[in-house]
Amino acid sequence: MISLKKPLIVLALGQLFFSVQSSAQEHTIHPLTLQSVKVNDSFWSPKIRVWNTVTVYDVLDKLEGKYEIDRPDTKAEKERTGHTSDAFHNFDLVAQGKTNIGQHDGPPWYDGLVYETIRGAADILAEYPDAKLEKKLDAYIDRIAAAQAVDPDGYLNTYTTLTRPKQRWGLNGGQDRWQHDVYNAGMLVDAGIHYYRATGKTKLLSVSVKLSNYMYKVMGPAPKNNVIPGHGGPEEIELRLYQLFKQHPELKAKMGAPVHEQNYLTLAKYWIDDRGNHGNPDSTYKRASDGSYNQDAIPVTQQTTIEGHAVRATLLASGVTATALETKDPAYIKTVNNYWNNMIGKRMFITGGEGAIADDERFGPDYFLPEHAYLETCASIGSGFFSEQMNELEADGKYMDEFERVAYNNLLSGVSLSGDHYFYENPLIATDHNRWAWHGCPCCPPMILKMVSALPQYIYGYDDKRVYVNLFIGSEGKIKLDGSDITLKQTTGYPWKGTTHIEVITEKPKTFTMNVRIPGWAENKENPFDLYKSNVGSGVKLKVNGKEIALNQVKGYATITRSWKKGDVVELTLPVQPRIVSVNDQVKTIKGKIAIAAGPIVYGFESLDNPGVQDYTLTANTVMAINYKPELLNGVNVITGETTDKAGQQVKFTAIPFYSLGNRKPSTTYQVWMPENGK
Ligand SMILES: [Zn+2]
Repeated sequence: MISLKKPLIVLALGQLFFSVQSSAQEHTIHPLTLQSVKVNDSFWSPKIRVWNTVTVYDVLDKLEGKYEIDRPDTKAEKERTGHTSDAFHNFDLVAQGKTNIGQHDGPPWYDGLVYETIRGAADILAEYPDAKLEKKLDAYIDRIAAAQAVDPDGYLNTYTTLTRPKQRWGLNGGQDRWQHDVYNAGMLVDAGIHYYRATGKTKLLSVSVKLSNYMYKVMGPAPKNNVIPGHGGPEEIELRLYQLFKQHPELKAKMGAPVHEQNYLTLAKYWIDDRGNHGNPDSTYKRASDGSYNQDAIPVTQQTTIEGHAVRATLLASGVTATALETKDPAYIKTVNNYWNNMIGKRMFITGGEGAIADDERFGPDYFLPEHAYLETCASIGSGFFSEQMNELEADGKYMDEFERVAYNNLLSGVSLSGDHYFYENPLIATDHNRWAWHGCPCCPPMILKMVSALPQYIYGYDDKRVYVNLFIGSEGKIKLDGSDITLKQTTGYPWKGTTHIEVITEKPKTFTMNVRIPGWAENKENPFDLYKSNVGSGVKLKVNGKEIALNQVKGYATITRSWKKGDVVELTLPVQPRIVSVNDQVKTIKGKIAIAAGPIVYGFESLDNPGVQDYTLTANTVMAINYKPELLNGVNVITGETTDKAGQQVKFTAIPFYSLGNRKPSTTYQVWMPENGK
């Protein structure tokens, strides 16, 4: 990385080289805080109510071991230990001074899942105060802090302490890829930061600081230990800890431990830059390689494609992007662009799913997009976080197109409409595929909570002279733009209806630019690299105060610059009628197949509505009707039409949103792609 300092100096000396740098040098986007956005939306608000009142409590209860056994893995776990897995019991044992007892509930990363759930719950609290939830979280935090308090170094990973205490961080013959010491620690720090931001309470943040200080002390260039996170994610979080103390230096005095925030940035960068560095085999600095599985085969900046375990890869990519935003390191910027372009251009599924291959839960090769793919909920969410970070870095609406694809499809499919059953895998064709109450590796429910609670932050964005409307969700966002308070108030029936109104509320007239995202699919650009293709015709319309204006587009956003005054209204109309999506010829795995989408929603066919669906074909020019059914699946737009089956018989079809598949019993057979008639 040292060689990269030179271009930065050149950049600082003059503007001459400005144009050869990434567009990230022009302007970056800031998201809003959760407290400055209020969602009031016909699509999202009812779902948010379920997640806030059912899902978050459900996940916490199940982490406490209160779950029904509906899978062989949870059954086997109970047979092994004699009880359902209680993640908090592990903390209590450690707090009692137990060590090396050879027993631990749940997988080694169970601590991490507790912390991720606390982070998600904290973000819920930031938007929707809930004294009962806060009290519950405080009690958990007391148990976590008690477990840390017994260790003089502030070390905490219950799995390692209870089963292999001499192998902290995977050292001394251990393996962090399995133990998840660093991953869990990172997730703890994340929870500490989010809980502080939501409540102002510092107990968990103080635990986070002590653990981060310990990691900084023992990990790094020789003579420290050669340790990287066995699972990506902590890179971004140590950066966030650095940013928090830079922003709030007054907090340092409350930590009960020294805070040198620069150390946290150093640690984040070390974890990125040390990948692929396995040390000299005969030195004490050597480390076994985790290979491409953990993005550790070669240095991060030498890798040009996104590889390995899809959750690890996308969370690392998000962390490198966040660090690029902070440091403007051109090598990081180039790297994350390479990863994203490869992921979205060659490896992404139509639903925003990522990670085709079940073995090692990894990305497949380019253009390998089989219908029976693995597509873990967490991987799709990781890619959503990565795309959002890319948008902050590059200010290009195409990134939010892909964020939106995840949000309305593979994210929502991960949780049942009832809010208490979950999918790990989200294939595009399946039989007997049911959401479970709890899993032997229940990583997806906490990730779902993290994303759905963070999502309102990304509806709007801003820089020093622009505001951005990234997502079409009924809401109010308060933005401090260049010293002025501006509120954007959105009302919309999206995704079921195409029209969105954005009202501007300012005290005094103010000149600025409003950038409104125009989704690619609305302009016949289903995918920025033509991995998928569609043609919805024309239909994007933009009005200001009722008067149609020309679409002046820059990088995926329609830009409107004017002197805005209170009550000005922008009206955007998007063509959300059904469209047929086809796939690039390079994709042999779904050759000759087509699918249906409308707006951001991908559709699927369930056997309950379509007996004999496995024999259906679809015609590219099929006439389709779309109708809102308020009583069906909590209210969805249903697409109907006529087609033929493989025997040439006329059949009627009914398609429902992918995310809603599998919510009606007994139907569990579904598919997204259909053979194109005559192909
Ligand atoms: Zn998962």
